[in-house]
Amino acid sequence: MNKQTKQEELDKVNKKCDEMCQCSLRHSATQSVPGEGSADADIMFIGEAPGRSEDIHGKPFIGTSGKFLDEMLKSINMSREDIFITNIVKYRPPNNRDPLPKEVKDCIPWLEKQVNIIEPKLIVLLGKHALNRFFPDEQISEVHGKLLNKKFDNILTSNFLALYHPAAALYNGSLRDRLLEDFKNIPKIFKKIKQNNIQK
Ligand code: URA
Repeated sequence: MNKQTKQEELDKVNKKCDEMCQCSLRHSATQSVPGEGSADADIMFIGEAPGRSEDIHGKPFIGTSGKFLDEMLKSINMSREDIFITNIVKYRPPNNRDPLPKEVKDCIPWLEKQVNIIEPKLIVLLGKHALNRFFPDEQISEVHGKLLNKKFDNILTSNFLALYHPAAALYNGSLRDRLLEDFKNIPKIFKKIKQNNIQK
């Protein structure tokens, strides 16, 4: 796919998600938050679900945790334009409750389509909910900061890195230090993937 076609394809999927997603959260949310960023991103970030600010503006990670994420990206000389960022669930759950299994099930096909268009070399899973969608038996406290490799039938990427969620780490000193440390290792982990030519 050439660059433009890939971005167009992604924009089309995001629009279809807004129009056709079966998730019942669409009835309580203001709008869908399909995701944002470059179709050519090597790294894709996946959070849990949009919060209040994201619901209002239709963009992922623009509230307090998004600002923290921007700072961390800057610390590794990256910005939003370099990545694609989205969530497991494409609509805000009422009062920011955890998404229900059916809501995840209804939203996941859109995430799979996004991954398969972008084909990132690395997927960064933000927080335990994103981690457990792909690795149900893993604990974030055990695997954070480690490169995980797993093949899935429905997605073309198999390199994952789980990090503590910025919202959980923001006001917790030790989690915050852990997250900052893990985040700083992203370029090293990414280089390792490229050097070893670890399969997507
Ligand atoms: N938390 C998330 O997991 N996603 C967002 O988009 C915002 C906050």
